[in-house]
Amino acid sequence: MSAAALAVLRETFGHPAFRGPQEEIVDHLVAGGDALVLMPTGGGKSLCYQVPSLMRAGTGVIVSPLIALMQDQVAAMRLAGVRAAFLNSSQDAETARGVEKALRAGELDLLYVAPERLTTPRCLDLLAACPIALFAIDEAHCVSQWGHDFRPEYLQLSVLHERFPQVPRIALTATADPQTRAEIAARLALGDARVFISSFDRPNIRYTIVDKADPRAQLLAFIREEHKGEAGIVYCLSRKKVDETAAWLVSHGVNALPYHAGMESATRTGHQARFQREEGIVMVATIAFGMGIDKPDVRFVAHLDLPKSIEGYYQETGRAGRDGLPADAWMTYGLADLVQQRRLIEMSEASEEFKRVSGAKLDALLGLCETAGCRRVRLLGYFGEDSLPCGNCDTCLEPPETWDATEAAKKALSAIYRTGQRFGAVHVVDVLRGKGGERVSRWDHDKLSVFGIGADLDEAAWRSVIRQLVALGFAAVDHEAHGALKLAGASRAVLKGELSVEMRRVVARRKVAPAARASAAAALSGEEAALFERLKAWRGAEARSQSVPAYVVLHDSTLAEIARSRPRSLDALGGIGGIGAKKLERYGPALIGLVASE
Ligand code: ADP
Ligand code: ZN
Repeated sequence: MSAAALAVLRETFGHPAFRGPQEEIVDHLVAGGDALVLMPTGGGKSLCYQVPSLMRAGTGVIVSPLIALMQDQVAAMRLAGVRAAFLNSSQDAETARGVEKALRAGELDLLYVAPERLTTPRCLDLLAACPIALFAIDEAHCVSQWGHDFRPEYLQLSVLHERFPQVPRIALTATADPQTRAEIAARLALGDARVFISSFDRPNIRYTIVDKADPRAQLLAFIREEHKGEAGIVYCLSRKKVDETAAWLVSHGVNALPYHAGMESATRTGHQARFQREEGIVMVATIAFGMGIDKPDVRFVAHLDLPKSIEGYYQETGRAGRDGLPADAWMTYGLADLVQQRRLIEMSEASEEFKRVSGAKLDALLGLCETAGCRRVRLLGYFGEDSLPCGNCDTCLEPPETWDATEAAKKALSAIYRTGQRFGAVHVVDVLRGKGGERVSRWDHDKLSVFGIGADLDEAAWRSVIRQLVALGFAAVDHEAHGALKLAGASRAVLKGELSVEMRRVVARRKVAPAARASAAAALSGEEAALFERLKAWRGAEARSQSVPAYVVLHDSTLAEIARSRPRSLDALGGIGGIGAKKLERYGPALIGLVASE
């Protein structure tokens, strides 16, 4: 069985070997079993249903929530010689009829279908009349009503089990937490499915979290110094901030585009298509963007605002470096983020239960931001995985200094207390630093004993102290009172000197060595790099003539390998990762020609 699967993998996809649990999953499905697959973004989920679809009789039906991307997925499959098509509301009736006809005639290996289409009686009847190899439910966490990707249509998908009990089903997601997993199993009637959980580690992603000072300038420096001309995603919380940040980046010479749900849909889709197809675009977006984006060469994901949870953060950052090459996950984080996220939770109309869960999720994320230990150990620990310090995150590469902040904590807590627990961080810091002003004198705060007791630390340091006090639970932000700081938790013990407090020192800018150069071309010698550039130019023309993204033709890593090993024969070329039989036949002569024209 495995030998046949391996043959399909090599012949069609051009990969030499299965990765991680792929082989076991494929075998299990080919034998007719159901599976629930939890694998990080970039882990290689697609092959888990593509290979068995090709091996079993009939058509593999893939349910995918994002119709905008089906076209590229189908184009990529066709280039590999797979007979693929899609059915969704973006196509006209005649095209859809053509696809249905091909399906009935047994001429399709893979059919991508939008969930709302699949669950119509007409589509179910159509499928019932055809041999089906399997059903794959991609982005299966969309059935979860607690997650931010909830799609009501997904709830209808349990009908697949009722109508087609004999057809194997595979549900796939990159959302790892146990609640979501249980919800998927329950709602999709996959209680008896075998569960495959991969390691969630993405070793090629470097995690960095910097203290927020001037976030735009910090972002610009990060892009210019480490990712000039490369594709990336910048996440912001609000639509307004997306628009402003994109415009600002453009005015500073970055090829940036905005994306959010408030834009006209044609513009939005256009931007998404450009991001997928063109090279080196920076997409500035709300979290509405990204699910299902399978662009392999996204070199960085930056967060200008704090996400809601580690699940969200991990899913968003996971969009970087799917090709396995070095990539960055970079975030700026400050007190205002923490205050804002807490306020969003407290002011929401949701149930107390929901607020409690959301608060706990936010706290876990704050723990990640404030940790002086390895970020990856924290991230993986959250998903239940033990690991050792990774050597590829900011805190491993440049261990943060911690300091005994007991005295500073006392001063800050006293200032919060003496000013009546009615003022926000800006005012409290002014009082601590002895900065006079209209507001300070109006409340006679310049007459307090705490006025000016903190002149030894600068403003950024005090902001960081207050942020860490809030994150550690010694102070709280009262949203009913315009963000006033209050004492909380064990603050009394700190004030009485019974508890000491360790804090991280602020670092606005980390001087970590740039990720072992992010592009595939980096390790190439001068001559190899020149060939690589010519191969890219050829690929660009090829992609344009077929109207597909460049990476659908061939990945950067494949081109780099060709530039390095200079294959002179089709045989040698066929041995390179990413070149299957179809691509060898189609592109082989041109590639050999380019290598030979040296
Ligand atoms: P996911 O859907 O889990 O995010 P994909 O299926 O898009 O991941 O795969 C991520 C990348 O890894 C793709 O570029 C794919 O070509 C590559 N890949 C997957 N499996 C293998 C493998 N066995 N060998 C080499 N590359 C692989
Ligand atoms: Zn680390």
